[in-house]
Amino acid sequence: MVPPTDALYLHDASLQTLTTEIVSYQPVSSLPENERSLIKAADPEVSAITMRQTILYPQGGGQPSDTGSIALVDKEPAFTVSLVRKTEDGRILHFGKSAGGIIPFVEGQSVIQRVDGAKRNYHSRLHTGGHVVGLAMQLLFPEMKKVKANHFPKEACMEYEGLLYNEQNPLIQAKVDELVQQDLPILISWVEDGSDLEGRGALRDGPIRVASIGGLDQNPCGGTHVLTTSLVGPITIRKISRQKGISRVSYEVPVIL
Ligand SMILES: [Zn+2]
Repeated sequence: MVPPTDALYLHDASLQTLTTEIVSYQPVSSLPENERSLIKAADPEVSAITMRQTILYPQGGGQPSDTGSIALVDKEPAFTVSLVRKTEDGRILHFGKSAGGIIPFVEGQSVIQRVDGAKRNYHSRLHTGGHVVGLAMQLLFPEMKKVKANHFPKEACMEYEGLLYNEQNPLIQAKVDELVQQDLPILISWVEDGSDLEGRGALRDGPIRVASIGGLDQNPCGGTHVLTTSLVGPITIRKISRQKGISRVSYEVPVIL
């Protein structure tokens, strides 16, 4: 059995380049159906690469995929990574195309990964902004249960059971502003037994990664974060909407700080 990919972004989200080894390189058409379906409408030139380790974040947990490149050491052009996805058995597939001809990647070859740093920073700020909104909500409305989080550009929101209205927007905005201004650290820890953590992750095997804003909350989370709340930049609560008893708090952060 092929071992899972070592997901280095979980331990150091600041890594922007990495030298690692090719494990597999194949056209998408030769992947098993369940893996082929991880990329929609791939054209025939798209291939999938797995490596021993990766610094590229695979889409999941409400956070979009990183983009980047993979190149043979000292060689251009590179393979452009347009989508990263994780398989059920923990391998991380890097989908993309070679720029200017096919690169003959083979197993064991050394390659250099690069992550698109500007996009990663934006995604990390958007994702961390979701934690800030979540903490503001927890402090203001501790009885409301979080049901969903989305940290995609233009769609970012946190959803809760129960009813919230636009009149509450200034209150949430003020609490979010306060948390950003306090420049609280984003703390990452690993817990062996996550059964007391609310809702998510409790049934997963192995240690669970937990993100906390200044020790004030505890969220099982596999995403990438900025180091402190002020690095998110100003968070805007865009609107509050309701559907079938669920309230959605939509937010955004600046694309560039
Ligand atoms: Zn997180």
